[in-house]
Amino acid sequence: MMLEGLDYAKELDKVDSLRHFREEFYIKPGTIYMDGNSLGLLSKRAEKTLLESIEDWKEFGIDGWTQGKHPWFFMAEELGKKLAPLVGASAEEVMVTGSTTVNLHQLVSTFYKPEGLRTKILADELTFPTDIYALQSQLRLHGYDLDTHLIRVKSRDGRFLEEEDMIEAMNDDIALIILPTVLYRSGQILDIKRLTTEAHNRGILIGFDACHSVGAIPHSFSEWDVDFAFWCNYKHLNGGPGGVGGLFVNRKHFGKIPGLAGWFGSKKEKQFDMEHTFTPAHSAASFQIGTPHILSAAPLIGSLEIFTEAGIENIRQKSLKLNQYLIELVENELKDMGFFIGTPREDMRRGGHISLEHEEAARICKSLKENGIIPDFRAPNIIRFAPVALYTSYEEVWSVVQILKRIMKDKQYEKFENEREIVA
Ligand SMILES: *Cc1c(COP(=O)(O)O)cnc(C)c1O
Repeated sequence: MMLEGLDYAKELDKVDSLRHFREEFYIKPGTIYMDGNSLGLLSKRAEKTLLESIEDWKEFGIDGWTQGKHPWFFMAEELGKKLAPLVGASAEEVMVTGSTTVNLHQLVSTFYKPEGLRTKILADELTFPTDIYALQSQLRLHGYDLDTHLIRVKSRDGRFLEEEDMIEAMNDDIALIILPTVLYRSGQILDIKRLTTEAHNRGILIGFDACHSVGAIPHSFSEWDVDFAFWCNYKHLNGGPGGVGGLFVNRKHFGKIPGLAGWFGSKKEKQFDMEHTFTPAHSAASFQIGTPHILSAAPLIGSLEIFTEAGIENIRQKSLKLNQYLIELVENELKDMGFFIGTPREDMRRGGHISLEHEEAARICKSLKENGIIPDFRAPNIIRFAPVALYTSYEEVWSVVQILKRIMKDKQYEKFENEREIVA
């Protein structure tokens, strides 16, 4: 017998090999959390390693740098080691430090070396605003005109980018390319390997913003020969609000002097010689700046253990199934209600979330919240849903669509203003 509706969802949950991880997370009773791509939930293990680090502070004071459960002096390096498999890199190529925006500044100030006619930076018109602001300020520091020097590849439909268009824009005047791995609105995955190869064929360095892919999909940054990448750990990696970010630097660039140097980028054994001559670490560690943000790095220790246990390939497989299920439900249950799925259909092209477009999106989101569902709104018309492999069940995905259907049928959203809130 074919199972339908709720029974089918329950059956999928029953045979899901990752389902036990859900119990490790704090999920507020009566709510369905669909926003793990913006802020991942707290796990008990992340809480534990944070509390252990606070205990180390209580117990050891200054000696916590080298003693205690998670000695602070080596924490960033230890975390880099654990994170490396998630981005397909060796331990020395990955560092847990800074934040996305700070790491972008660090890497651009290191790798953007305008020379002769090669003076421009290539990005795209759909990218996250902070990336654009950072690139503009880097150009300004070099005294360049922003309009002529920041090239933004256009989207043909406002949702997706075509690799061909980006390759066509890789001209002789481009010094550096910065692109997202996964687009934050539509969830499109770019062909990182192809773009990297094409950039290198033209003598251009290329770096990626991996905020929306780290922890959701596997990467092979080393194998693809990507020059560098940067990301935040508070989205799919559940590291906590505003927690420390991450960066990847290809080993072929080890030894480059960081654009923004600081003493924590020193070779570990030299750092406390306190010399005025900077001896950078021969690894991605050299891109650290000052004292690590221990208390925001500590939850990641526990969180990354979960990823190691679950395996990123398994996480990806479940994420694809959850998202596919969501797309099918939307197509079947929400017909003629004004929704448009603004996310690629092919698995290869889709990251960890689904983008549902609707002209009433802002107030539909408010209505969803009133019904216990936590979505994510992106102006002007996008509802993002991220069913997360580690803690979202198929049953929840089923419920989300049923509740959404009810909201639309009863026009429950009409009692709200169709405007975003201060944080959307
Ligand atoms: C979330 C996100 C950021 C945020 O950067 P922060 O420095 O952590 O505030 C940047 N870029 C992208 C693509 C993001 O999704």
